[in-house]
Amino acid sequence: MIETTVAPTEAPAKHAPKYTRNQPYSSKVLVNDRLTGPESEKDTIHIELELEEGMHYLPGDAVGVLPTNRDEQVDTVLKALNCTGEERVLDHYKVEISFREALSSRLAIGKLTRSAVNQLGKIAGDKAPAALKAHLGPDNKAIAEEYVWGREFIDLINDFPGLITEPQQLFQVLARLTPRMYSIASAYEAHPGQVHTTVRVVRYHSHNLDRQGVCSGFMGERMPVGTQIPIFLHENNNFRLPVDTNAPVIMVGPGTGIAPFRSFLEYRQIMGHKGDNWLFFGEQRSVSDYLYKDQFQTMEKDGFLTRLDTAFSRDQKSKVYVQDRMRENSADLYAWLESGAYFYICGDAERMAKDVERTLLDAIALGSNSTLEFAAEYLATMKKEKRYQLDVY
Ligand SMILES: Cc1cc2nc3c(=O)[nH]c(=O)nc-3n(C[C@H](O)[C@H](O)[C@H](O)COP(=O)(O)OP(=O)(O)OC[C@H]3O[C@@H](n4cnc5c(N)ncnc54)[C@H](O)[C@@H]3O)c2cc1C
Repeated sequence: MIETTVAPTEAPAKHAPKYTRNQPYSSKVLVNDRLTGPESEKDTIHIELELEEGMHYLPGDAVGVLPTNRDEQVDTVLKALNCTGEERVLDHYKVEISFREALSSRLAIGKLTRSAVNQLGKIAGDKAPAALKAHLGPDNKAIAEEYVWGREFIDLINDFPGLITEPQQLFQVLARLTPRMYSIASAYEAHPGQVHTTVRVVRYHSHNLDRQGVCSGFMGERMPVGTQIPIFLHENNNFRLPVDTNAPVIMVGPGTGIAPFRSFLEYRQIMGHKGDNWLFFGEQRSVSDYLYKDQFQTMEKDGFLTRLDTAFSRDQKSKVYVQDRMRENSADLYAWLESGAYFYICGDAERMAKDVERTLLDAIALGSNSTLEFAAEYLATMKKEKRYQLDVY
């Protein structure tokens, strides 16, 4: 293994924390375009938001978005509870607002949690029906987990009606509606006064209803160009380009995991960084799911993007993923690491990131002609040197 001096990552950004999750900035939507083609099974969008002067970010940072719940969803809950929405309630800060406002912007009426089921049980007390009791407490955790999967709050009050008697009780039952984070997909220097994101709109069908993710649905369907949305910038010093502008970087970002690497590449390009860049991107189909295809292909043609490897799982009979492309190129991967490359992974935490790490370990063991134990040590050293960084969710 080469001896590298510990290369610190970039200094923390010093943006004034003027806007936060509790005091967000009302940003104007400048662009909201679908990136995926009509043949795609996915709905992935590119969003450009305007920033106030002084709001700045670095590649690797995220933007927080405060969503509101869909009007139809709010109406359905009001109807199920026999309310008009005009009722007055106290929000989390004891400020009086209408019940409609509470359901729209304060309470998580989307995906159901076990905690909500337990809280409803508490409110119901002796009046809790046996079917609800069967889901309560730590002893019934597995049954409750199964019940909440794919369900939302409306399902709970439809299944167990009449137990909520006061609108205010919902503050006891439901969690706060929280902001969602999105990796920033732009370099500020390439788009001054703007922040871009790449969002997959979560849509699924469960328990006989079409459903959607609260925030991605909000961005996909209710955030046309010209609307204002509450946002804040979120610093992430654990995901940073090398300070050494000559250091090579390897980026693995399938799906929306591509977002921060668009930011990395735009930044390195506009700042004239000389280090080599290798990007792995994967999705289902090249014809419909190749996010930012023209931009990356132009970067490759111009010689700025040293290597671009794609894996489209549904383009051929047998599925091919980014880790397969890594495996095919494991000798080169190891050579890049030996020359001091930084390695980045962004996207799915559940499976992809683990598979990519395993493949990287194999590549190290193969390249160094040694064991997996040695590869694990090698990777541990890379982690210590901050040459292995993850932004997974
Ligand atoms: C640091 C960070 C960076 C991120 N960057 C990005 C990014 O760049 N782009 C991006 O798109 N996302 C990104 N995310 C994820 C994003 O923050 C949200 O979690 C995502 O958009 C879903 O939020 P939502 O409000 O739309 O969905 P929610 O309302 O939170 O619903 C999502 C939930 O719906 C349920 N669900 C989903 N599908 C099904 C199904 N088929 N059956 C049953 N239940 C289901 C699951 O419980 C799932 O957790 C990032 C997250 C983090 C933490």
